Amino acid sequence: METITLYAYGKINLALDVIGRRPNGYHDVRMIMQSVGVRDTLTIKRRPLANDIRLISNFTEVPNQKDNLAVKAAALLKKEFSISEGMEITLTKRIPVAAGMAGGSTDAAAALKAVNTLFSLNLTEKQLAAYGVSLGADVPYCLLSGTALSEGIGEILTPLSKAPECHVLLVNPRIPISTKDVYEHLDAVESLSHPDIDGIIAAISRNDYTAMTAKLENILESVVIPKNPVIAKIKETMLSLGADGTLMSGSGATVFGLFSSQERCHAAAWKFRAENSNWYTADTVFV
Ligand code: ATP
Repeated sequence: METITLYAYGKINLALDVIGRRPNGYHDVRMIMQSVGVRDTLTIKRRPLANDIRLISNFTEVPNQKDNLAVKAAALLKKEFSISEGMEITLTKRIPVAAGMAGGSTDAAAALKAVNTLFSLNLTEKQLAAYGVSLGADVPYCLLSGTALSEGIGEILTPLSKAPECHVLLVNPRIPISTKDVYEHLDAVESLSHPDIDGIIAAISRNDYTAMTAKLENILESVVIPKNPVIAKIKETMLSLGADGTLMSGSGATVFGLFSSQERCHAAAWKFRAENSNWYTADTVFV
């Protein structure tokens, strides 16, 4: 095999709780992860006559070459398994960057899988996840995808039954947010309301859409919304357009709305597009 192409799906958090801080600055989380249909495309081609990793990308906001997480992932396995050949990575980005949708982590996960297949490394899912966590806390989840509980710093994963089917509207006002900054500021917030993670897990396992939407909660909103009130405004607008529940994903600034009706979801997406042509808007489903 000379070339491989994989999709790298974005995620949203149906709930996100932070339950502790480690001495090294990392936070212990409990998050309900859900992959959505918005995806990047990653192609890796072997370059037998070269030795370096080359990146071609459509997106200027994404770090080029060595700092790109897809390149870092490929370079990690290249070094670890003494792969002498070079590679060419073509990355078509559609997931908004620094948006709480794990765009970088999912590209890294796809690159790990692609190199594993392309060079017949025969690494197990567990081994890939161990390499993944060294690149980013969300990479192990991105290797797994679907609906899952993520704990520890993101490396302890429990697959859950598929979340109730619905339509998902994603809106990002194009404010890039640094995940690191949000977690650092969280420690200064005095009274925090913790999401009912066990309650939302129970709702998902009963396939109870109404109970699931009632329990959408993200502890990081208390840090991000006061500084970016537009997020609260987007949530309000989504609800007025018929969303059954809305939430900021990850550390923001992407907001998602869940709709039982596809028509209402489409109509809301068009309304956001018409009024904010420079924002990111997508309507999709859980995958
Ligand atoms: P998370 O939800 O995991 O916190 P995020 O969606 O908020 O992540 P990313 O899109 O993963 O954020 O971007 C985080 C940082 O990673 C950005 O500053 C970006 O420059 C860098 N980065 C490196 N490689 C990539 C990539 N392939 N795609 C997107 N961002 C990348």
